[in-house]
Amino acid sequence: MDDHQESHQQSRVDNRGAAYANSGPIYNAPVTHQSVANDNSVNYEVEKEDTGLKETLSKFVIGILGERRTRIGALVSGLLGAVSLVLGIQTPGETTAGISSSDLVVASFLFFGLAAVLFISFRFRDETRCPNCKMHYTMKEVQEGQVREVRTSTGVRQTILRTYRCTNCAHQTTRKTLARSA
Ligand SMILES: [Zn+2]
Repeated sequence: MDDHQESHQQSRVDNRGAAYANSGPIYNAPVTHQSVANDNSVNYEVEKEDTGLKETLSKFVIGILGERRTRIGALVSGLLGAVSLVLGIQTPGETTAGISSSDLVVASFLFFGLAAVLFISFRFRDETRCPNCKMHYTMKEVQEGQVREVRTSTGVRQTILRTYRCTNCAHQTTRKTLARSA
């Protein structure tokens, strides 16, 4: 984390033999060597994202439900989860149509869990689609992510630049994400 520290190397310039020897203040003035790229940022690399599990899940779910039903299913599950949660916490201990409020709260978490699984599935399919040849699951990360951290007045802003290449047509894209801003 000390990479951003500027390296101040001070040296004295002996220019007594030079034509401008009499230019006053220049003689023996401290010279500070500083990287031009130094803009108070820290740059490093991070491992490629491990998306194996997401890919397996996405192909499995979409393979069973199809893309359209996965999207609709995510929306419906999310809504059912929200309704169950509201009904469940509204009147604690009471029953709604024969179902206890605690059952409704449990049901809401199951609906939210299902919604998350379905959402991740179609989202991953969309994200790995090649914008050039339109194939799904072909955009793969090809190198380590480039992280850049910049100190701001409010904290550290971290951006990650990831590079993807299509396994079908070799089309390449980069994606920049703001990972942290604190
Ligand atoms: Zn492609």
